[in-house]
Amino acid sequence: MNDCRVNPLLRPAVRLMNRLRYPRKFVLISLLFAAPLGLTLYLWLAELQQRISFAEKERAGLAYVSAVHRVLEAPLLGRQADVVAADLDALDRRLGSELETSALWASVRDGVLDAGSSPVVRTRGALQLIAHAGDTSNLILDPDLDSYYLMDALVTRLPELAAQLGAISQAARPAAKLGVAQALLDGIGRGHAVVLRESPRLRAALEPSLAELGQAFAIVAAGAATPAASVRAQTALSAHQRAVAAALDALLEARIDRFTTRRALLLSVVALALVTVSYLWAGFYIGVLRAVRALDRVSERMRSGDWSGLVTLETRDELHQVVDSFNRVAAELIVARDQAEAATRAKSGFLAVMSHEIRTPLNGVLGMVHLILGTKLDDAQRHYVLAVQESGEALLSILNDILDFSKLEAGRIELTDEAFDLERLVNGAVTLLAPRAQEKRLALETRLPPGLPRALRGDAGRLRQVLLNLIGNAIKFTETGFVRVEAERRGGEGDAAHLRFAVSDSGIGIGAEARPLLFREFTQVDRSATRRFGGTGLGLAISRRIVEAMGGEIGVESTPGRGSTFWFRVSLPLAERAPSRASERALAASRPLRILVAEDNALNQEVARGLLSRQGHTVEIAADGRLAVEAVRTKQYDVVLMDVHMPGLDGLAATREIRRLPGDRGRTPIIALSASVLPGETQQCVAAGMDAYLAKPIDPSALAEALARHAASPLHPSFAAGAGGGRVLDEDHLRRLFDALAPARVAALIDGLPEDARPHREQLVAASARNDLDGMRNAAHALTGIAANLGMLSLSELSAAIEQACGEGRADAATQLCDGVTACWDEAYARLRELEA
Ligand code: ADP
Repeated sequence: MNDCRVNPLLRPAVRLMNRLRYPRKFVLISLLFAAPLGLTLYLWLAELQQRISFAEKERAGLAYVSAVHRVLEAPLLGRQADVVAADLDALDRRLGSELETSALWASVRDGVLDAGSSPVVRTRGALQLIAHAGDTSNLILDPDLDSYYLMDALVTRLPELAAQLGAISQAARPAAKLGVAQALLDGIGRGHAVVLRESPRLRAALEPSLAELGQAFAIVAAGAATPAASVRAQTALSAHQRAVAAALDALLEARIDRFTTRRALLLSVVALALVTVSYLWAGFYIGVLRAVRALDRVSERMRSGDWSGLVTLETRDELHQVVDSFNRVAAELIVARDQAEAATRAKSGFLAVMSHEIRTPLNGVLGMVHLILGTKLDDAQRHYVLAVQESGEALLSILNDILDFSKLEAGRIELTDEAFDLERLVNGAVTLLAPRAQEKRLALETRLPPGLPRALRGDAGRLRQVLLNLIGNAIKFTETGFVRVEAERRGGEGDAAHLRFAVSDSGIGIGAEARPLLFREFTQVDRSATRRFGGTGLGLAISRRIVEAMGGEIGVESTPGRGSTFWFRVSLPLAERAPSRASERALAASRPLRILVAEDNALNQEVARGLLSRQGHTVEIAADGRLAVEAVRTKQYDVVLMDVHMPGLDGLAATREIRRLPGDRGRTPIIALSASVLPGETQQCVAAGMDAYLAKPIDPSALAEALARHAASPLHPSFAAGAGGGRVLDEDHLRRLFDALAPARVAALIDGLPEDARPHREQLVAASARNDLDGMRNAAHALTGIAANLGMLSLSELSAAIEQACGEGRADAATQLCDGVTACWDEAYARLRELEA
């Protein structure tokens, strides 16, 4: 910045200019220029106008003086004096007020026109008039030498000479008069000499009549004051007067023309300057604007990820310097971005490889733990094994978060597009986490307004992931009170619905300073909570990326110590209808299958065998791809679980060979198993002919779902029969719960159930005795949730009915239903215990 140090004198100007946008800068500078220039121009134009008016007035005076001369010479030229006087009358009406001659003309008119009066009287009146018009028309103030002497001759000397000539003809002693006349003639001659020096072009107009006047006067002066000589002299004088008047008029006209031309020239130059300056200003502004817009456009493009092409400008001025610097920085950024992308790719590759190395043994550990928990264990052993399972699962969840994030970070998020039931999705997420809320005795509420669309299209799995993360966090960071999950429609035109989801809690809350950082990766506000509950600080970062990939936004409102509300908005297309519950059940339930597991690792063989046998399936093992192909060739299996990475013939090659087998064997469903998350592996599996892809460690419920989906088979008789109404327990739900949470967890939940339900049952009894609708409704609501979580179908239906009756204000019906709760509870709990055993 040193090279831009500003001279202190210039600082105010710089400060002022820095505040203004370019158009205002232009206007300001232009005004500052235009004001004095405009004033000067105005004064100049005014001066020119004044001169033009001056000359025009002189011409008017000249016209008047000439008219008076014509009156004087009328008898001489044989013209009717009154005809000539009429001309002068008309002229006086037109110019009299301007030249202020009217009064004088009126007073001398009779004397001048009276043929009977003496020439001296007539001439005196005319001379007065001529002198007066000469004064008032500015003629006598004429500033130029030539016109001045012409005026002098016309207004003063020639009339005087005429008077003297008239007097000579009558004078007794003409010698004195002759002397005066000679002096006047000499004065006229000197004046003319000056005129001709200044304007030689007038020579031809003036000299002949002046010469004639001189000759005529010489005759008179020689003593021949005969009437003929006198007339000749008078005639020569009149002719010369006309010549002088014409010359003077020509001079004045030329002067007016000159000033008019000057004024037009001046105005044209100013107009041209204005147009040129405006034109150049416009060019300058457009140039600046184009440079700024080009910079803006390119930086906007770069922000949206398109780095192709830098800024190009034709300008050679200082802006070019700015653009050059911008382009240099952009070029450096492109290099840095390429390096960062290469580093990210390397990191993703490293993570993928590491995940394979970590997830494979973890698969073994968790599988084995699952199996051990299915055997007879004493309390201490169960405790230790549960601890191992918990740690293993925590490790797996961290690993999954990191891998998920690295996939999202590399922009590899691929959203599926499937129809789903929104209400079921939200309730499912809430149900999955309800046990954790119950462990902390938190009220977990769901609020879905009646108008909420149910059937939508989108990536239900990713949406559930975001909800699970927000609800999980809310439970994690809340010690007492509630966690509430809400979804509502906020408009949406055509086939799309704008949805807003909100998860509120009454937990520890988040300070304002931490809130902006929350959605960044590896951000944790409360480290002590993290130590207690675990977590990577990635959940919200992952959620943000998912929501943004769906075109939505995510945010938080929170008050420390009072709770938080995490919300997100997405816009999803409406589906024609959501998949039915029956088809979902069909997915979850499947008959015992004959399954071939192609897996080289002995530990994983054992895990797969254990998991599948426990679900009632028959399992055979092939230790590599070659053996798997042989097994399928010789035997019919319902499904093959194929490890992708095996020595010799790997899973992909084995699949391709199986697909080439003739008949049904070639169409045996194949599900890939892999601990790798290398990009593109799923596509490779599909390309090789596999039907599905499961990541290791195997998630038992995902495995069950994949088997049900791909090993096309009739429904298991026991589940099909149980799908009717009036059931005490929802066995499908319980099966999923066992799969998802492990039997020991479910057992612990069942053990704690009477204690969890007791306050609500007691409140129900008390409220029903008081006929307290609100009390009954709240207790029934809590009981519905608890019962539904553990598949106590009849109890949850009964409590829901109580809740509904209370909502509709049917107190009698609600009280009556409450009476049945104890019996329903006893039956359901007993059945639950039986099932657990
Ligand atoms: P973690 O795996 O640590 O939970 P998240 O990205 O999900 O990672 O959350 C980041 C941090 O945000 C948490 O460690 C916690 O400090 C804060 N946080 C998230 N949800 C809540 C909440 N409901 N109440 C209070 N703090 C929260």
